Amino acid sequence: MMCSKGSLMTMVISIILCIMRRLGCKAVADATIEELKNKTELFVKEGNRAPSLAVVLVGHDAASETYVRKKAEAAEALGFLHFQYTFDEDVSEDRILSLIRDLNERDDVDGILVQLPLPGHISESRVIEAISPEKDVDGFSPVNSGRLLAGEDCFVPCTPKGIMKVLEHYGIGTAGKKAVIIGRSNIVGKPMAAILMQRGVDATVTVCHTKTPDLREYTLGADIIIVAAGHPGTIDESYVSEGAAVIDVGVNRIPDASREKGFRLSGDADYSSFRDRDVSITPVPGGIGVMTVAMLMSNTFEAAQRRAR
Ligand code: NAP
Repeated sequence: MMCSKGSLMTMVISIILCIMRRLGCKAVADATIEELKNKTELFVKEGNRAPSLAVVLVGHDAASETYVRKKAEAAEALGFLHFQYTFDEDVSEDRILSLIRDLNERDDVDGILVQLPLPGHISESRVIEAISPEKDVDGFSPVNSGRLLAGEDCFVPCTPKGIMKVLEHYGIGTAGKKAVIIGRSNIVGKPMAAILMQRGVDATVTVCHTKTPDLREYTLGADIIIVAAGHPGTIDESYVSEGAAVIDVGVNRIPDASREKGFRLSGDADYSSFRDRDVSITPVPGGIGVMTVAMLMSNTFEAAQRRAR
């Protein structure tokens, strides 16, 4: 596993001073985007059409609109083609399914992403299952989930893929380590567990959820904790042993009248409680969120490459 000179230095200083190590992700995401930009230029020079991504957004949820905007900005910065389909909250499921069928057929679309969550009257599973596995760049379809579990070639869901990249960047090994995942969603917890238990990754994995009676019983023995619960303060320093790494996936909007937007972002871990601990932790913002967008671009490039073969 590679560890950059800068991150190695931060790690050594943190160990000597016994202070928290911040695992910032922006530089990791930027490096991924830069590498993708070069690959895309080469891909186009070789006579291929630029990779293309179709994004479907239903309703006007502020967080979803922000995520979709960030994905569009990243696609444009890379020179990808980008198609956006925006619908009002009351659009029918049939209309969305018919759009997905069209996008599946279109030659100028490599990747399809439906921004979740969808309104209650639309079945998320029916919509995701309708996306062709070859264009399922989010990696949520049953075909891709099954392939991931079986250790076969597939589109790896973007957030877990980004987490693996961050662990690798910071030289945090997984082989023989105890990993505890808090959260069992189809988009984070379950695929994360599938990746960490693969041969070659070799972590011993425990998945916790709301019916886990005592989280500390598991987290205190963990080398790596991935928290994706969707609640601020799900864990603090009392849940984590010295030397462990915490990957905070949570993105929570906390009302804050002093901010221009009226809120601030917080993760699921109480970041400031770790200040005097020998613990490595990803921040929010500036953490896993930026990796998710970069990995979506990486999957879109991969989809274009596969379709061009
Ligand atoms: P989700 O579908 O709501 O799932 C949350 C999971 O956490 C559930 O399995 C739930 O258990 C478990 N959980 C909730 N509170 C818990 C607690 N106190 N103790 C133990 N387990 C608990 O959420 P998600 O879609 O996975 O997202 C989780 C968080 O990550 C959200 O804040 C989301 O915004 C964020 N997220 C960030 C990114 C990114 O790019 N950074 C990407 C995706 C998601 P049960 O199954 O028992 O209900």
